[in-house]
Amino acid sequence: MDFQTPESWDTLRAGVREVCDTFGDSYWRELDVERAYPEEFVQALGQGGWLSTLIPKEYGGGGLGLVEASIVLEEVNRSGGNANAVHAQVYMMGVLLRHASEALKRTYLPQIASGGLRLQAFAVTEPDAGSETTRIETTAVRKGDKYVINGSKIFISRVLQSDMMLVLARTTPYYELEDKTRGLSLFLVDLRESRGQLEVEPLRVMMNNQTNAIEFHDLEVPADHMIGTEGNGFRCVIDSWNAERILIAGECIGDGRWFIDRAVSRANERVVFDKPIGANQGVQFPIANAYARIEAADLIRYKAAIKFDAGEACGPEANMAKLLASEASWEAANVCLDTHGGYGFLADYDVERKFRETRLYTVAPVNNNLVLAYLGQRVLGLPRSY
Ligand SMILES: Cc1cc2nc3c(=O)[nH]c(=O)nc-3n(C[C@H](O)[C@H](O)[C@H](O)COP(=O)(O)OP(=O)(O)OC[C@H]3O[C@@H](n4cnc5c(N)ncnc54)[C@H](O)[C@@H]3O)c2cc1C
Repeated sequence: MDFQTPESWDTLRAGVREVCDTFGDSYWRELDVERAYPEEFVQALGQGGWLSTLIPKEYGGGGLGLVEASIVLEEVNRSGGNANAVHAQVYMMGVLLRHASEALKRTYLPQIASGGLRLQAFAVTEPDAGSETTRIETTAVRKGDKYVINGSKIFISRVLQSDMMLVLARTTPYYELEDKTRGLSLFLVDLRESRGQLEVEPLRVMMNNQTNAIEFHDLEVPADHMIGTEGNGFRCVIDSWNAERILIAGECIGDGRWFIDRAVSRANERVVFDKPIGANQGVQFPIANAYARIEAADLIRYKAAIKFDAGEACGPEANMAKLLASEASWEAANVCLDTHGGYGFLADYDVERKFRETRLYTVAPVNNNLVLAYLGQRVLGLPRSY
């Protein structure tokens, strides 16, 4: 086992950091107040080619692996920013590369790779289905050379900031299916052509995240914009889950490191009772503990990503990486807030903003209970709860 990280990863980190450094704390703080999308940041990251690391070179991308993609997102969060604004495009790449037709790939991937086209929205969650994705009710009905989509979804992020969106919809009624994981299909929707058939209601959530409730009103999608085959959409989505979990782990590790850095600085600098607060074990040990947990989660993130890039099965590692990293970043967030005392609650210190941002990842894109159920039931062979 070799724990020496390749020089190319350091170069990659330095490149992303250079872009992030031009967008300091006040940039993210102001956007948070306005609940505004980081347009300039996304543009800079896209133009630098950092959002196309996973796109093969033949389509104009970086031709790198998931390890590198997770490092890019980690660095954004470590810098004090929030990769949430851009991460969906990276998650979805696996689905497109593996399941989209060659024609779709040739049309869209080079535009995405150049930063000229945004694929930042992925519409799966529905109000009544929740975590049970196979229960979704939005329908896609074939009419000639088109599918017509109707229904509603909730928590669909970046619809108004994206040009394209992946949509999971039902093409066979649930009660007609023997295998309930069939009957759903995945579509690549061009949002620029569909605004009239799509109602978007922005939702205000606890952090700066452009999420929405959406309703489809006879939204027409060309039949050749189906990703994979009819009825196989859930399988295509599942294929993206390992990548998504590993990338989320990268973001959480970035957050965790940011919290540890800030906690250490504060604990060294803040003097109360004539000594730095970090000299007290009640302050120091929780920081050390949170640091150890971030480092441990990082190892399983790399194991998962390296297996993924080698084409090996990595479900257990990907799920464990997401679970451990999201818990570790949340612990680091609490420790950082405690270390700052009352100042942690002041917006100017950015701790409360990052605290709100990292909280999302124990719940979404998949809640940690479902990750534990996967580990318990699929990996350890315990009885099934659902
Ligand atoms: C800010 C934000 C952005 C989002 N962006 C997107 C997006 O872009 N696209 C998209 O499709 N979705 C998105 N989501 C949705 C997100 O993926 C879901 O909220 C998440 O998967 C949980 O589903 P739910 O909210 O319906 O919770 P529910 O399914 O109602 O579950 C609630 C809680 O019950 C528990 N639970 C449920 N079932 C079980 C079980 N079988 N065993 C044990 N515990 C269980 C879990 O702890 C869970 O946290 C977003 C959500 C948020 C908050």
